[in-house]
Parts: sequence; C-alpha cells; structure tokens
Amino acid sequence: TRSVYFFGNGSADGTRDMKTILGGKGANLAEMTNLGVPVPPGFTIAAHRCVSYLADGLVDEAFREEVTRALERLEEVSGKRFGDASNPLLVSVRSGASVSMPGMMETILNLGLNDETVEGLAKASGNPRFAYDSYRRFLQMYADVVLGVPIAKFEQLLGSKRVTNGVTTDSELSADALRALVHEYQQLIRFTTGHEFPMDPQVQLWGAIEAVWNSWTLKKAVDYRRVNSIPHTLGTGVNIVSMVFGNMGEDSGTGVAFTRDPSTGERRFYGEFLVNAQGEDVVAGIRTPLHIDDMETMLPAAYTALMATQDRLEKHFRDMQDIEFTVERGTLYLLQTRTGKRTTAAALRIALDMVDEGLISQREAVLRMQPNQLDQLLHPVISSDVRATALAVGLPASPGAASGIVVFDPDVAERRHAAGEQVILVREETTPEDFHGIVAARAVLTARGGMTSHAAVVARGMGKCAIVGCTALEISHEQRSMRIGEHVINEGDWITLDGGTGRVFAGDLPTQPSEVMRVNNGALSAADAPTYRGFAKLMGWADEDRRLRVRANADTPRDARVARNFGAEGIGLCRTEHMFFEGERITAMREMIVARDLGGRRRALEKLLPMQRADFEGIFQAMDGFPVTIRLLDPPLHEFLPHGGEESTMLAQSLGLTRPELARIVAALHETNPMLGHRGCRLGIVYPEITEMQARAIFEAAVRAHRRGIDVRPEIMVPLVSDVSELRHQREIIERAADQVMGVMGERVPYLIGTMIELPRAALTAGEIATEADFFSFGTNDLTQTTFGLSRDDAGRFLPHYIDKGILAEDPFQVLDRKGVGKLISWAVRDGRATRADLKVGICGEHGGEPQSVAFCHEVGFDYVSCSPYRVPVARLAAAHAAL
Ligand code: ADP
Ligand code: MG
Ligand code: MG
Repeated sequence: TRSVYFFGNGSADGTRDMKTILGGKGANLAEMTNLGVPVPPGFTIAAHRCVSYLADGLVDEAFREEVTRALERLEEVSGKRFGDASNPLLVSVRSGASVSMPGMMETILNLGLNDETVEGLAKASGNPRFAYDSYRRFLQMYADVVLGVPIAKFEQLLGSKRVTNGVTTDSELSADALRALVHEYQQLIRFTTGHEFPMDPQVQLWGAIEAVWNSWTLKKAVDYRRVNSIPHTLGTGVNIVSMVFGNMGEDSGTGVAFTRDPSTGERRFYGEFLVNAQGEDVVAGIRTPLHIDDMETMLPAAYTALMATQDRLEKHFRDMQDIEFTVERGTLYLLQTRTGKRTTAAALRIALDMVDEGLISQREAVLRMQPNQLDQLLHPVISSDVRATALAVGLPASPGAASGIVVFDPDVAERRHAAGEQVILVREETTPEDFHGIVAARAVLTARGGMTSHAAVVARGMGKCAIVGCTALEISHEQRSMRIGEHVINEGDWITLDGGTGRVFAGDLPTQPSEVMRVNNGALSAADAPTYRGFAKLMGWADEDRRLRVRANADTPRDARVARNFGAEGIGLCRTEHMFFEGERITAMREMIVARDLGGRRRALEKLLPMQRADFEGIFQAMDGFPVTIRLLDPPLHEFLPHGGEESTMLAQSLGLTRPELARIVAALHETNPMLGHRGCRLGIVYPEITEMQARAIFEAAVRAHRRGIDVRPEIMVPLVSDVSELRHQREIIERAADQVMGVMGERVPYLIGTMIELPRAALTAGEIATEADFFSFGTNDLTQTTFGLSRDDAGRFLPHYIDKGILAEDPFQVLDRKGVGKLISWAVRDGRATRADLKVGICGEHGGEPQSVAFCHEVGFDYVSCSPYRVPVARLAAAHAAL
C-alpha cells in the first residue's frame, strides 16, 4: 500500500477526508494546498507506517524509495536541494495523528542544516545571523528529540551567552555570538552522547522520522490518549514540510490564531504573534506575544492576506479554525489549520451564530455540541457578593471558579490530589510534560503565555478553569512560593481563580451557581442570561430530533423542580427511602424496623404515612402532567438502624426498651451480605404492611393532587424482583390499597404498576414477569453488579487496575456494558414486549445520563431514560445524537 502523499504547487495527493491515513495535520495541509491557500510544499508519511514501525522496528527498502522520490519532487518544486551547500532545502519533520493531540508529540525544524549548508543559507539569504539562529535551534531540537540530550542544558548555554554579550533577549545575539553558540552546542552533544552530531542530512531525516514515530509512546502522549479515550493503535503521520522562516528579521514573524474567540465564541478574529521568531515561540510562552491587531501596522500586507485566508478557511471547513502561520519577508504561509478547541459557552454561541449565518444547519449545530460538554455550563462561579479584591488579573483562558491549594510541581499536584486534596497547579508556563499535573489539578494558573498557550488549550479541552499570562506572578521554585506584588503565597496556601474573568484571589472564596443554574432556580430571568438563551435554543432543536423521552431521578419536590426546569419529562425513579433519612422521620422509621409485633409496626407506619404523602404530593405537583415512578422501599433495613451511643439510648427510651434489648434486635437484623439480603420486594413480602402503607400514601397523595387540578400519573415500581410470583404478590397489595383509597375518597386516578429489572433472573424471565408488569425499568447499577458479580462498593480497589491494564475498556458502572449486561437488557425488552406489546421500558441507573449508554437505550427501543436532574440536558442531547 501507498505510504507517501505529496502536496505542493497548488495540488495535493490527499484531502481533508483522509485523516485516518494522513493524520489531521497532513490531511488539512493537503486540503489547504488544493484550496490554493499558501502552504509550503511537502509530503506526508501515512500513519500505518508508524504502527508497523512500532511493531517490528523495521523500515523497508520500498518505503525508503518512496520517501526518496517524494524528496526529489520537493527539491524540484522548491528549486533547492537537500544537503546542497549553496542553496540547501531545509524541512520540518512534524507529527500529526488523526485525532488532535496538541503538543503531545515531537516536531523538528530546520532539518538539513550542517556546518556547510549553514554557510550556504547565510549566503543565499544574505543574513548570517538568521542562518546561525536557525542552526542552533535545529541542533537543540534535534538533540533533545532524537538524541535525548536534555533541553535545559542548551537553555543554560544560551542564557550564559546572553549574559556574556550583555543582552536580554535571544534576538539581540549577533551572528558571531550565535556561531560560537553552535560550537558549544556541538561540544555539549559530543560530550553527552559520545558521538558527533550527524552532518549527513539523510541520517538527520531518518533519525527525525523514527523519533516522531517513537514519540507516539511518550508518557505524556499515552496519558493524553488515556484521558481522552483515544485508541493507542492509531499511530501518527509524519509531515515533511519545506521550511519557511519567521526569524528572518523585522519583516518576518510567526503566530497562531482562532477564527473566533475560543473563550466566548464572539465572532472576531483572535490571535497572537511574534516578530522575528520561529515555530513554537508563541505557544511555548517564551516571550509574551503581541495581539493580532498589532500585526496590521507591523506586517500590513501579510495581515491583509491572513484576514482573507482565515475567512476562507472558516467558510470552507464550516467551523471555527485554529491556525498556525508564518510570515517570511512579508509573505504569509499557513502551516496548520484544525477545528479549534473552545469552551462550552463559546461552542454554543458559535454553533448558533453559524446557523444564523447559513453556514451550518440546525442539525449540524445539535451534532456539534458534545453532550458531556454541557456540564461546563453548570459550573459554579465566584459569588457576586464576595468583596475580595483580586491579587492579580491574567487572561481568562477557560471559565469556571475553582479554589485549591497552590502547588508548583506537576508531580506534587498528582501526589496531593491522590491524597484527596484540591490543588491548583501554578507554573511559569506549562509544557506537554506537565499534562499529568493538569489532570490532577482543579485549575491551572500560569505566569506567561497567551490564550493559545499550552495551558490554555489543554485546560479548555478538559473543561477546567485556567488563567494564563498572569505576569504579576514571580515564582520561586527553591522556596516553593510565589510573590504577587507584596503578597507571598507558599505551596499549600489556598487561592481561588475565576477563569471567566481572569482574576486571582487569596483564600478559599465562596462560589455561586452559574448563569444557567441561576435561571434554573429562578434567581435570574432568562432575559438577562444570553448563554442560557443559547442553551435553551439548542436544547429545543435537540428535542425535535430525539425519540427517547428523558426523565429524572428525584426524591424531593426540590429536585423534581430542578429536573423539570432542565426539561425532564417526568420522574423515572423516586427513591422512597431517601425520604426517611431526614429529621424526625428517621425515628419513626427506626420504630417501624425494631417493632416487635405487627401492632407496633403499624403504629410506626401510621406516623410515616402523612410524611410520605406530603412529599409525594409535592412531587406530583412539580411534575404536573408527567409520569412519576415511585419505587417501594428498597434497601436492607439495618441501614436505618442507630449506630450506638446517644442515638441508641434515645431510640431505646422512646420505644420503652432497655439498651440490651435494643442491641439484641439490632444484632438480629445484621446480614452477612446485605446487598443480596433482605431488601427490595423481599421486605414487602415479609412485611406486607410496609407495601400497603406506601401504596396508600401514594394514592392518597395522588387523589389530593388530582382534586387540586393536577394531572397525576403515578407509576408504582416494585424493586429487586427475580420471579413473577413476587411481583404478583406485591401487585395484589398495591391494587387493594388503590381500591380502598379511591373508594373512600370517591375519586379515581390512573396508575401503573411495574417492576425494576435489576437481577439477571428477572431479565431472563422477563416474558413471564411482563404478565404482571405494566412497565420495566432497568436498574442498571444493580444489574451490572449482579451480572458481573462485582460489588460496586468494593470495586474501587481493583477496577482501576482493570482499566489501566486494558482488561476492561471502561468502568461498567459508568458506561453500560453492551456485551454482557446489554445482552440481558435487549433480551428482556424483546421477551417482555412479546408478552405485552405496549410494555413501557426505561432505565433508571446511573447510565441514564451517560451518552454512550443513552445511545444503547435508543437502539434497543427504550421509551425513556432517567438520570440525575443535572444530567437531564446531557441525556436530551445524547438522545438527539442517537436518533440522528
Ligand atoms: P504541534 O503539533 O506541536 O503544533 P507543529 O508540527 O505544528 O507542532 O510545529 C510546531 C511549530 O513549528 C508550529 O508553530 C509550526 O507552525 C512551526 N512549523 C512547522 N513546520 C514549519 C515549517 N516548515 N516552516 C516554518 N514553521 C514551521
Ligand atoms: Mg501545530
Ligand atoms: Mg437496585
């Protein structure tokens, strides 16, 4: 198969659709070339070469031949020759996988320079300073990436050079100083590696290609893929691109830009650049870059070309682009374009604006929004009544408010996070090596770098708060502290960041709900909330596309209201036991549990009934017109018992028992394996009066609410059924209670009785169970637990190792296991509907708010999913994606 794809002279072998073969960078370089956008010519080595090289370490002859031919073509197109002493072709060797992994792998610039070609470059350009600057950059990058010489050693030599020459920046170093520096670099390489630096450009080229392939397995790259669920099997493409130079003087430069603001989504070109600089100088935060608007006066012709090009690229790719460009002696070149990372608020705004601009359809807008991203809109911000003055203000790179202890080192961040602390990683700037520290931190703060710096891009991508370019910070690594003006902050001190405004505060400040949350709870009107309005509009579009209904798991009227305001269409799970944990109720509950006879139990239940009834009424009201599924008492009884001490003394007193008597009762209730013990419908079977009381409370509440004009639709759910006869038994009690209540109250309301399917035996005998059930709700937490035989409460000790070792691809408690649990579910749906065609089917486990699991529910024909109130928007959007 073909391994090399050329681009240059206005045409390319590849296109944007070939990302899996060429990697994103290569595919888009090809696409830009075909578009006629100025891109320096080059060629791309397909990613499958990386995969095979990493497998066997071999580079075969036929492939070498392909590369040689492409290089010859590049010489032809550029009119320069690789290794030619008078007019040398120089190239960059760049990584680029099919999924963007910014800064995770390696790039080498100025390859092809040696002691002879550098002279040629000096002559050809008439600029020896530039030639030696390029050479020393090449030596340093190549030694770092290919030969493993630590970059810091080069930085040290460069630093001393500045000092001995009495200058403060690299660009002030003269040609002679740089020539001397090149010798020192070469000595350093000889000394560290025991070999001469390779002067043969062919050796350089293959060394660089192999290093790029190997960079696929660098720790930071592997970490990045793990966090972002990118398969390790993709491999990276390698791009060999002829060099253009931003370091040729004051009429040259390099920069990065976004076609729209990545933080707010505002439609304005947003970028940063540096004059007389090369490659990554901007992103690395080595010098603080200039605002793109300044380019208009400094490099006017290139600026005009850039504006036209960015507009063209955005229209062509029909999405916000993140671009890299270089200006060589006034001429603009594009070196990269890709879909830009953005905050959720920006993503919303851009999608809606692009629909208005006629660039994309409503459907595309819905599909572009990733369901899990919506979470970010609910992040808290610093309370508006906090009067603290900011210590410093940096660039607001990624929103959200976060407090934590200051940590200056990524390893320390990882360690203290693992120990349960909230940390904020503070650095001069971050590099891809810091990735694990960013993962561990709640937020990132840097002293240098712009909105396009590494820290900004990575944090934004992870939905973490970040402030960058906060120039007031002076970090001292020896003292493990930083100074901001008069203030000294030590490692371990608390600070608070406001990523939305860029403000840094001392201490642990209180936060308040986000705009979207404040509209939800009525504290803010939608008229004053533009982000909320965008959110609501997009959700409305999503609703037009989805088939699945979305309900919420809510146990209180308050949760029910939050859920409804987020668009929940009913309650899929109301856990009655949660109602017993509050205040005085727990006492009544305990009385019920330790009652020695039926009379005692009934007396306690009579006390509980009005409390339950009031809660149900509130929930019915909040869900007027929508179904409410109420699950009968589920957990093992001893969960409610006193834990000794004061609690036990009081309970014994109120029951007229002695402490030893109470202790005996409690001991008798102890179970060896409570999750498989006396719980769920087993309670209602042994103590039918519990089921009866709960059913009465539900029906009385329903009739009362109905009398107040509320449209009530209770659905009573019997938990932990494994055989149809259990459900039949409970159903009789519930129906009897319904007839009694409605008879006495003289009013009927419609209701359903159904069951949870959360045990394998229930799933397997679903056809029989459906004879007694109006609906099934899959309790996938327990069903996962019982199908895997895996205790959810203990799995934390070993499941992470399973994920690490790749034994399981994902935690089955987070992402529904299609292969096993999913098989039981789809069987149960089919078998159940074979008995009862109109059987309603839903899910109420944690999985109901997880996008991949929602997609599964859609595929197997569920009627609805139910999830936590805060996941309702995620589920609505995921349901739309599943349907599109
Ligand atoms: P990354 O994936 O980390 O962004 P790149 O391969 O894009 O790495 O390159 C790093 C930097 O070098 C970028 O700023 C890019 O624009 C610049 N660069 C790469 N190739 C060339 C080239 N042929 N000429 C000039 N600059 C280049
Ligand atoms: Mg790049
Ligand atoms: Mg359960």
